[in-house]
Amino acid sequence: MGRARDAGLTRALCIVTAGDSAELTRAVDVARMWPEVRFSAGIHPHVAGQYAERLDTVTAVVNDALASVPLTRAIGEIGLDYHHDLSPRDVQREVFRTQVALARELKLPIVIHTREAEADTIEILRQEGHGEVTGVFHCFTGDQHAARRALDLGFLVSFAGILTFPRAADLRDAARVVPEESLLAETDSPYLAPVPFRGRRNEPVWVGRVFDTLAEIRGAPRSRIVEQVTANLTRLLRL
Ligand SMILES: [Zn+2]
Repeated sequence: MGRARDAGLTRALCIVTAGDSAELTRAVDVARMWPEVRFSAGIHPHVAGQYAERLDTVTAVVNDALASVPLTRAIGEIGLDYHHDLSPRDVQREVFRTQVALARELKLPIVIHTREAEADTIEILRQEGHGEVTGVFHCFTGDQHAARRALDLGFLVSFAGILTFPRAADLRDAARVVPEESLLAETDSPYLAPVPFRGRRNEPVWVGRVFDTLAEIRGAPRSRIVEQVTANLTRLLRL
């Protein structure tokens, strides 16, 4: 937190897992220590399998997390992950569907995690969101076409440190075409540390490397991108 503040970070979004009481308690501590932070709570597709026998509790679990952590402004990460496949896909879809419906009801933005499940993700967003639910495709890893589909639904597209990886040329192409009013940058700490910190525990201050890369590939002044991303986050979370 000290390093992030020293580098001029004025906002952060911290993702917590609904239903994980230890994590919710830590989030309350973080909120006390770092008032600039905002939270998002949801049931991640990786843990959706825990709800296989109790799908009817999903709404209550998320509502409870939203109520117990101060400064929650979004539901997420929610979505589908057919790459890691840590939960049965049908259960992932049901848990995701329920949370999109809840976001619509509560008028909250959502933070989407999707891996190799783009078509199903978009279909559920269309079916349950009714065009009223927006948010962000977090840690985006798709190509230009996938980015356009996210933008067509009114979502922001968020790029993480993967953008700095040598082999991420397709992703950099996608980052070139996202309009600046739809652009976000993130670290996904503690994962995915950017070049030259790869392999280390990632932390918020290194979002600066994502800004460096965005500025370079978009040929825009870094300060302008920082300003625009900050404005986009402010608008998304209604700060
Ligand atoms: Zn994720």
